[in-house]
Amino acid sequence: MVDLIPPLIELIRLSSTSLPLDVEQALQNTLHSEHPGSPARRTMELILENAAVARRKSVPICQDTGTPIFTVQYPAGYAQKELRFAILTAVEQATASAFLRSNAVHPVTGINSGSNLGDPWFPTIHFEESGEDTLVIDLLLKGGGCENVGRQYSLPDETIFAGRDLDGVRKAALDAVFQAQGMGCAPGFLGIAIGGDRGSGYLASKQLFLEPLDAHNPDPALAALEERITLEANQLGIGPMGFGGKNTILKTHITALHRLPASYFVTVSYMCWAYRRRRMTVRGEAITYA
Ligand code: SF4
Repeated sequence: MVDLIPPLIELIRLSSTSLPLDVEQALQNTLHSEHPGSPARRTMELILENAAVARRKSVPICQDTGTPIFTVQYPAGYAQKELRFAILTAVEQATASAFLRSNAVHPVTGINSGSNLGDPWFPTIHFEESGEDTLVIDLLLKGGGCENVGRQYSLPDETIFAGRDLDGVRKAALDAVFQAQGMGCAPGFLGIAIGGDRGSGYLASKQLFLEPLDAHNPDPALAALEERITLEANQLGIGPMGFGGKNTILKTHITALHRLPASYFVTVSYMCWAYRRRRMTVRGEAITYA
């Protein structure tokens, strides 16, 4: 079996230093709609310059390299214990190489582990046996600022006039964006889970960030809602980094989870402009990145 540690370090390096092309293109597209010379336009120019420098110099796109969230789809024959060891070792070595900032702080002692390793929850690793013959590892680096502005609503919610229907979902999503203002480092991206419980809602809403930006929602009602939320979020005028402007949310993804009759959660996860996601695929000895 191939030694996974060096390729995993490369996965981390790529994720931290090089924005996915669809994300960079989405950021690039905003330039045309912001007024030349405006704070919004200058902010987007700086963001794009920063992304280009980070890729060229192989340094992190942002000083906050975020929570590493790994999703591992593995074929039969792989042992989770060995995969976990390879991931943790790669995270530690990538931190030592400064592709990741030391981000794991104990909440009671305040001590930073220095390695990005903490209890069993840091980094986050999700495992799933796939039934395929390829090993696929996705990595999402989720920044703290945008994580802070994620919100979960329990509908009905009278404070935002949101009932238990898709219009209530829309109101919850727009409230989350409005409350975030520029603190999520806009322009951002939304992952919204309707239903589930509190835990599955956050998990599913973040998993949506693994989707490409041009992914099509197969549910026409949800596809229409995604478009409408993005449109209306951009009418709030928050703009890049909260400086005002036309580009606040560049894409909304929505998924629906079965829920208990008693509960109707809407979970809104926010991804900042530093939308770092990468995929590593292992087929036999061949390793590719996307
Ligand atoms: S929210 Fe994103 S862009 Fe803002 S500081 Fe954190 S990682 Fe960087």
